[in-house]
Amino acid sequence: MSIDTAQGVLGDATIGELEAGLRGTVVRPGDASYDEARAVWNAAHDKHPALIVRCAGTADVIRAVEFARSQDLLVAVRGGAHSIAGFSTCDGGMVIDLSPMKGAVVDPVRRRVVAQAGMTWGDLDHETQAFGLAVTGGLVSSTGISGFTLGGGVGWLVRRHGLASDNLTGAEVVTADGRVVHADAREHPELFWALRGGGGNFGVVTSLEYELHPVGPQVLAGLIVYPLAQARQVITRWRELIGRMPDGLTTLLNLTTAPPVPFLPEEVHGTRVVVLAGMYAGAPADGEEAVGPLRRLGTPIADIMGPMPYTGMQSLLDPLWTAGAHNYFTSAFIEPSDAAIDALLRRHLTTPSPSSELHLHQLGGAFGRVPAEATAFSQRQASVLCNVIARSPEASGFDRLVAWARETREEIAEHGQGTMYVNFTGDAAEDKVRASYPSAVHERLVRVKDAYDPTNMFRLNQNIRPSGTS
Ligand code: FAD
Repeated sequence: MSIDTAQGVLGDATIGELEAGLRGTVVRPGDASYDEARAVWNAAHDKHPALIVRCAGTADVIRAVEFARSQDLLVAVRGGAHSIAGFSTCDGGMVIDLSPMKGAVVDPVRRRVVAQAGMTWGDLDHETQAFGLAVTGGLVSSTGISGFTLGGGVGWLVRRHGLASDNLTGAEVVTADGRVVHADAREHPELFWALRGGGGNFGVVTSLEYELHPVGPQVLAGLIVYPLAQARQVITRWRELIGRMPDGLTTLLNLTTAPPVPFLPEEVHGTRVVVLAGMYAGAPADGEEAVGPLRRLGTPIADIMGPMPYTGMQSLLDPLWTAGAHNYFTSAFIEPSDAAIDALLRRHLTTPSPSSELHLHQLGGAFGRVPAEATAFSQRQASVLCNVIARSPEASGFDRLVAWARETREEIAEHGQGTMYVNFTGDAAEDKVRASYPSAVHERLVRVKDAYDPTNMFRLNQNIRPSGTS
């Protein structure tokens, strides 16, 4: 059966030829697994690709890239499928799906792991924790390592060990012309610089090598929940503490609505609260002193901060972040001045759905000590990253939530330089990309794009447009 693409018609024989050259499979409209294969985490993006190439390895990726180029197909690259903006799917084009590629080799002596690009943080933590090692990963274990790392990667180890991308030591990349290159500090150093924060603009990354660190298996971590009535005091005291916390402690304040979870009294369910989440990345007994003041930001409704497995903390929030809901994120790097706290509280009181919320990620520590020019992720100065989240189980009314998130972001961003984080950006608009990089960094990214993807084959991303294209 032939299939329609945005560019024309692909005949059976042509698709058969593609399939014959793969170890993986091709899924197309009409196949029994098509609806499952085309689904992405964010249900706000319901697209119908012409072909989904489920790659078994680098050779399949080369084949897929060559085929897409020969047929002039729009290409979406998929790791863990968590793109908020829906970049890992498309209408009428090809999805290069890396999710079957889940191999990892840990070298416990050199403290390195080479991980295939289809792994999630749950997969990679599983492999590295077998050796008592870890690298900064996501707060939700189903998030893919690839998109997360290429955009930066903020997690519970960010203040101890920097972003995921700060720990990237090399990557294998299939470029738009079907070549395979290895990028690290010595080979293709400009590409390596761009991969650490510049997103999926420069080719298909098939494997990532990270530096690992001893972490766990037990850490001191969890949640402390405070009532809305104490919100101003809690945020203000947290603001005063964050500059003094040891690097091993990373925290996040979540201005949210209490979910119906068993550790919260029933009368609190559905009310606005402030949740302090955090992890101390050393021996749990050593962390008690650092964590103590977090228990005294106010009078907690619940305190479930205690020793737990690192992998337990890495998946603690999973039940709240299941696939299939409608989601929009937008962000701003800010300083939590009194005026910023006023704005945050004002917006918290207007959240339009129980799962729409404001996350304040504490930065600083090792993250802040990376020189701005070392990687394409160069926003190192701000002490807080605010992620504004609109989330709803259904499509109806979602536009209203998105409008709330955008308005909130504009108000909050006034308390910083107006900059944002690509991984928390639910739009593809060029002004958002510009707001994510200082102009000198953006110009350098354009030069790398010109060298590795001059025709903008990889454009479903926070796009760095090559010079000479429109
Ligand atoms: P995908 O949708 O598969 O990929 C996103 C984009 O990245 C692709 O469209 C492509 O442009 C690029 N890409 C992915 N893989 C490759 C590859 N191998 N080669 C080239 N390009 C590629 N971010 C944080 O910093 N910290 C968090 O704690 C965090 N938590 C999150 C929790 C949830 C529930 C969600 C939905 C997102 C979270 N994010 C977080 C944001 C996350 O980092 C981005 O959504 C990221 O893009 C997800 O990567 P992925 O591989 O799962 O996504």
